[in-house]
Amino acid sequence: MTSERPRIVVVGAGIAGLAAAAALARAGLACQVFEQAPELSEVGAGIQLSPNGSRLLHRLGLGAALDRVAVRPQAIEVRRWDDDQVLTKTTLGAACAELYGAPYYTLHRADLHQVLVDALAPGTVVLDRRCVGVTELADTVRLTFADGATVDADLVIGADGIRSAIRGHLLADQPRFSGQAVFRGVVDAAELPALVAEGKVLIWMGPGQHCVCYPISAGRLVSFAASTAAGDWRAESWSAGAATADLLTAYDGWNPVVRSVLGAPESVIRWALYDRPAVPRWSSARLMLIGDAAHPMLPFGAQGASQGIEDALALAACLAGASAATVPAALRRYEAVRRPRTEQVHRFIQDNERDHHVEDGAEQRERDERMRADFGLRQRAWLFGYDAEAAATSPEAA
Ligand code: FAD
Repeated sequence: MTSERPRIVVVGAGIAGLAAAAALARAGLACQVFEQAPELSEVGAGIQLSPNGSRLLHRLGLGAALDRVAVRPQAIEVRRWDDDQVLTKTTLGAACAELYGAPYYTLHRADLHQVLVDALAPGTVVLDRRCVGVTELADTVRLTFADGATVDADLVIGADGIRSAIRGHLLADQPRFSGQAVFRGVVDAAELPALVAEGKVLIWMGPGQHCVCYPISAGRLVSFAASTAAGDWRAESWSAGAATADLLTAYDGWNPVVRSVLGAPESVIRWALYDRPAVPRWSSARLMLIGDAAHPMLPFGAQGASQGIEDALALAACLAGASAATVPAALRRYEAVRRPRTEQVHRFIQDNERDHHVEDGAEQRERDERMRADFGLRQRAWLFGYDAEAAATSPEAA
């Protein structure tokens, strides 16, 4: 081990791993990203990126690229499941960009992925390399891949998702099944002109399930995610096809606007939802988990990817100027800052899970009142206004 720049390896080329590679490069630290898939791709579905995530991507110089492919929705509107009545609204658009210094985006996952890939130097990502083994040596970590190859590093960043192999080396826990699944689909915007003209994130809440819908791909497409009880469904595969008819049956009795969205695509995909409870550590001296590998959350609040991006830039900020010898200290600082933040977001998601699915009645009326009071743009300051990079480099963090 020397005082040279650390040799850094990232496992997993999802949003967190790619953002980490881009942020490390900006901090003057080279890395290699090893991805199990034989080609880089993302699923055909949308994603929301709140200002706490978009601010950091803008700092990586990706603002223009995001604006080319994303939508800046005008508002998030929560509506009733049966009569489409608006329960509450958060204004976004220019007001959000002005207040928080960064926009709220809705975009196609594949577009976000491509923007991140394009930010990296050629050769950064190595495909078809599934990590199957981790050995911690005195001052390095050795990774073994499915093809028998090995790589030594001064730091391994495990960005390999909810079923992380790196996490499996550190911890003995398993993903926790939520009992719910989502159907997801993408529709040509021309089929839903009235909805697209509104340019909003729409959330319909109803007994036991909810549906989220928003424009993506610069307004050319509309993406939706509709939750249901999972029944026997356990698959976590984006390619798991599911019949639109099943989806419409699950949403029987919901208002015609929701049903027009759900009935529009040729096919939908179904995804069982898992998270993991918070754990006391994400790291060892030279290993750190980020993104879903560290803190997978249910999607009821659209924060998983933004938290992965926060992780990526916070970690790069802690590592800036680090040598191989000082990596362990940088990781300790990173974890001390990121744990409380992600636990707070996780609690918010768990509250949302309860709120999204309340049966009609007294509890639902109380929820509606509470949401009306608590859904303003300024009430989101703790979430949207958070600057993960500044937090990681603050004197308190040191
Ligand atoms: P992943 O995207 O899982 O990437 C992990 C990568 O590691 C993959 O490329 C995988 O192939 C690779 N990998 C795995 N194992 C290995 C191995 N052993 N060796 C090498 N490579 C490996 N978040 C938001 O912020 N906004 C939203 O609107 C939103 N909506 C969501 C809707 C749904 C239905 C779901 C399920 C999630 C949603 N999320 C949202 C959460 C978000 O998608 C995830 O938090 C985010 O994609 C996680 O990114 P990641 O890079 O940590 O993990």
